[in-house]
Amino acid sequence: MAQEEQQDPRQDFEAAQDTAWHSLDMKTALERLQSSADGLDSEEAKRRLETHGPNRLRPPEKDGPLKRFLLQFHNVLIYILIVAAIGTAFLQHWVDTGVILAVVLINAIIGFIQEGKAEKALDAIRGMLSPKAMVLRDGHRQTVDAEELVPGDIVLLQAGDRVPADLRLVEARNLRIDEAVLTGESVAVDKGLDPVDEASELGDRSSLAFSGTLVAFGRGLGVVAETGEQTEIGRVSTMLSEVESTTTPLLRQVAQFGHWLSVAIVAVAVATFLFGYLVRDYAAMDMFLAAVSLAVAAIPEGLPAIMTITLAIGVQRMARRNAIIRRLPAVETLGSVTVICSDKTGTLTRNEMTVQEVVTADRQYQVTGVGYEPHGDFELDGRDVEPDDSQPVLCEILQAVMLCNEAQVYEKDGRWRMEGDPTEGALITAALKAGMDARQLAGRMPRTDVIPFESSYKFMVTLHHDHEGNGYIIMKGAPERVLAVCAEQRTADGDQPLDPDWWQARMDEVAERGQRLLAVATKRVPADKRDLTFDDVEDGLVLLGVMGIIDPAREEAIAAVGECHSAGIQVRMITGDHSLTARAIGKQLGIGDGEHALAGHEIQEMDDTTLQERARDVEVFARTTPEHKLRLVKVLQADNQVVAMTGDGVNDAPALKRADVGIAMGVKGTEAAKEASEMVLADDNFASIAHAVEEGRTVYDNLKKAILFILPTNGGQAFTIVSAIMLGLALPLEPVQALWVNMVTAVTLALALAFEPPEPGLMERRPREPGRPLLSGFLIWRVLFVSALLVVGTFGHYFWMIEWEGASQELARTAAINTLVVGQMFYLINSRYILESVLNIRGLLGSRPVLIAIALLLVLQMLFTYSGPFQFLFSTEGIGWDEWSRILIFGLALFFIVEAEKAVLRPRLDPTRA
Ligand code: ADP
Ligand code: MG
Repeated sequence: MAQEEQQDPRQDFEAAQDTAWHSLDMKTALERLQSSADGLDSEEAKRRLETHGPNRLRPPEKDGPLKRFLLQFHNVLIYILIVAAIGTAFLQHWVDTGVILAVVLINAIIGFIQEGKAEKALDAIRGMLSPKAMVLRDGHRQTVDAEELVPGDIVLLQAGDRVPADLRLVEARNLRIDEAVLTGESVAVDKGLDPVDEASELGDRSSLAFSGTLVAFGRGLGVVAETGEQTEIGRVSTMLSEVESTTTPLLRQVAQFGHWLSVAIVAVAVATFLFGYLVRDYAAMDMFLAAVSLAVAAIPEGLPAIMTITLAIGVQRMARRNAIIRRLPAVETLGSVTVICSDKTGTLTRNEMTVQEVVTADRQYQVTGVGYEPHGDFELDGRDVEPDDSQPVLCEILQAVMLCNEAQVYEKDGRWRMEGDPTEGALITAALKAGMDARQLAGRMPRTDVIPFESSYKFMVTLHHDHEGNGYIIMKGAPERVLAVCAEQRTADGDQPLDPDWWQARMDEVAERGQRLLAVATKRVPADKRDLTFDDVEDGLVLLGVMGIIDPAREEAIAAVGECHSAGIQVRMITGDHSLTARAIGKQLGIGDGEHALAGHEIQEMDDTTLQERARDVEVFARTTPEHKLRLVKVLQADNQVVAMTGDGVNDAPALKRADVGIAMGVKGTEAAKEASEMVLADDNFASIAHAVEEGRTVYDNLKKAILFILPTNGGQAFTIVSAIMLGLALPLEPVQALWVNMVTAVTLALALAFEPPEPGLMERRPREPGRPLLSGFLIWRVLFVSALLVVGTFGHYFWMIEWEGASQELARTAAINTLVVGQMFYLINSRYILESVLNIRGLLGSRPVLIAIALLLVLQMLFTYSGPFQFLFSTEGIGWDEWSRILIFGLALFFIVEAEKAVLRPRLDPTRA
C-alpha cells in the first residue's frame, strides 16, 4: 500500500509541497499562495480550479455492485427457494428447478434495481445540500459552492459556518471553532493570527481553520491553503455523509415483522408436510412440493423492497416541493406533527425589506418605492423633499445605516441585486435613494471595528474614524435596546434630552402598521479608541431616529397556515421582532388574533408550568431569543405535542435538535442549524413545511396501502393450499405458479401504490398519534377479510372446475390462478384509498401507474395462460369464455364487497386510527 502511494507522482509532488501553514506568518502565507487580502479575481480562480481540482472529498465507500447483488440472495425466502430447487432437482423435476432458479435470479435483479433507484434518489438529495462559502473575488463578496474554492481564495467565516477548506487565518475576531470532527475535542478552541510552532499538534494550530470544523463564535477571514483531499480532514476521512440512516422505525418494524412471519410460515409448512404425509397419506414428494408451495406463496418477498421504494419516492417528492429530508425517520414523524413553530422573517414573510418610514426627533418621513431598486423619494407631510442640508438628521441617519452595514446592493445586468442580510439591504437602498455612495462614504469614514448582529442581543455596532482623527460609534438595532442606552436625541437644531414616551408613541404607530422597527444611535469617541466592546454601548449615545421597514407576508404562507389549521396542526410564530409588529403580521397570516402575544422578557419570568399553560393558546411569540425557542419546544413536548421547529442561526441548534422535526432554512440557515435538523427547506418558505407534512402523511398512507395490498395475496394463496390439503385434494397451486403470482403482483401491481398521490381529505384529518403501531386491528382485519375473499374465489373456482366440470388439473389451476390475479387487480383499485370510496372518476381512473400496472399484468396473464413456452414452464392450459366470465364476476363481486366494507367501517373508524 505504502509502496503504491510512493509511485503516484501526484502524491510525490504534494509531499514535496507540504507546507506547515500554521508556522508561517500571515504575509508569507499570502505570498506563497500568490494572493492578497482582496482575494483572487474570477479568471485566476478558474485557472487554479483546473490545476487543483474541485474542493471535494471522496464520497464514502459504498458496497460495490457485485456485493450489493450478492446481498440480494441473503434472505430467508431465497434460502427456502434454493432448498426447493435442490429438492426438485433431486426428484428430477428439471422444469421446476429451472423456473425456481430463474425466479431466484429475477428476484435478485429486481431487488438490485429497486434498491439502486432508492439509493439514487437519496444521493440526489445529498447533492441538494451542497455547502456554500462566502469569498472575496473581484473585490467583492460572493457566495460560491464550496467545491469551487481554490488555494488563495479569501473566505469569510461567521458563527455557524462550516469551514469549507483548510484556511490560514488573516483576520480573527473572537473567533472560536469547534474542531470535534477532527480532534474529538468538543470545546471550541480560540483562534488567532500568530504563527505557532511547526511541531505543534493539530489541536494547537490556532492560526489555522480546518475544513469540516464548525465556527462556534465570532468571525474571521482566512486564505485557502489546502483544498479537497489535501485538507486535514481529507487525509483522514471521507465525506461527512449528509443524509443519515437509510431506514426508519417503521421500516425496521416491517422488516422485523417480515422476518418473524417467514419463520412462522416455514414452521407451518413443515407442520403441513407432516400432517399431509402422516395423516392424509400423500406421497412424500407431493407433500414436499406442497410445503414448498405454501412457503413460497405465503412469504411476502416483495414487501421490503416496495416499502423502501415507497419511502424513496416520497422523499423525492418532498425534495421536489423544496423540503429536503436529512434523516429518513422524519418522514414518518412529519405525519404526526401537531404544532409547527415557525420563524417569521423570510419564512412567513417574503424577506424583501423596504424602508418605508424614517422618524427623527423633529420630522417624520415617508419613503416611496419597493424592493432593492433605489428608485423612490422622501416625503414630508405628503410633499417630496430633497435629502440635502435642509434635512440634516435624515442625512446623518442614512449615512449611519450605510456605514453600520454588511450588505451590498449593486446593479448587474440591468437588475438590482442584494447580497447579505435583507434588513441591511433595505437600509442601503434607502441611503441610495438619497444619492449616497457606499464606497465613497467608507473611504471617508473607514471602519475600525465591529460587533456583528446577533439575534440574542439584537443590535450591531461599528466604530469609524474620519481623516481628522475623530472617532464615531454607530449602533443600530431593536429600539428598546438602543433607546435604553441613549441619553439624548438629535434634532436639526442640536441635541436635546431624550423623550422616551414620545418615541414609544411614534414607534407603536409604526409597528401597528406591521412594520419592523430599527433604531439608530451614535456617539463620539477619542481618536485613539480602536477596539469595540459591549461596555462602549452601555450609555451616552445620541438617538438619530427610528426606521420602519415593511416585509410583506407571503401569499402562499397565508394559504398554508389555513391548511395546517384544517389538518389539526397549530401554528406558532416565533420572532425576534417587536410585539406589535409581530401581532399585526400574525393577524394577516391567520396566526393569533392580533391582540395577544407573549414577549421574550415575559417568557423569561415564567416558570415552565405557567409557560406550558400560556403556550396552549398564545400563538405569537415576540422579542424572543434562541433560548426561548428551546424552552418552548420543551414545554410543548411536555404537553404531549409533536413539535416541528424552524431555525437558522448557530444558537438555534439546540432547539432544532430537541424538536421532533427540526427544520433549517436552506438559504439563510447556517451549516450548524442544518446539521442539527431533520429537514432543510430549500426555499425557506413556510408553505413548504405544510407541503412536507402532506407528503409525510401520504408516504405513511402509501406504506400502509402496500401492506394492505400485498399481504392478502399471500394470505389468499396460503389458505387456498392449506384448504386443499385439509380436504385431501390435489394442490390448486404449484410452487412455480405461486412464485409467478407473487412476482407479478408485487412487481407490477404493488409498485403502482408507491406513486399514489395524497388521498382527498388527507389534510382535513387530525395528525396521526405518534408511536401507534402500524399493524392496527383494522389492518389485520382487512388483510384477513380480503384473504378470505380471495380463498373463496380461488379455491372455489378450482373446486368447481374439478368437481363440476371434471376439468384437468392444469385447466383448473390456470382458472384458479387467473381468479386470484384478477381479484388482485380489482382489489388494487380498492386499495388506492384505505377507507374512502373509490367509486368516482378520480378513484377509478385517477392513477396512471395503477392503470398501467393493470394493463401490463393483463398482458402477462395472457402469456401465462395462452403462450406455448409459458404453458410448458408453468403447466398451464388455455381457459375459455365460461371461466373468464366467472373470473370477472368474482373480481367485480370482490371489488364491491370491499367497497361495502369501507362504507360500513368509514363512519365508525377514525382514519388516523385505521
Ligand atoms: P426575526 O425573528 O424577525 O428574524 P431578528 O432576530 O432578525 O428577528 O431581529 C430582531 C430585531 O433586531 C429586529 O426587529 C431589528 O430591530 C433588529 N435587527 C434585525 N436585523 C438587524 C441588523 N442586521 N442589524 C441591527 N439590528 C437588526
Ligand atoms: Mg432574522
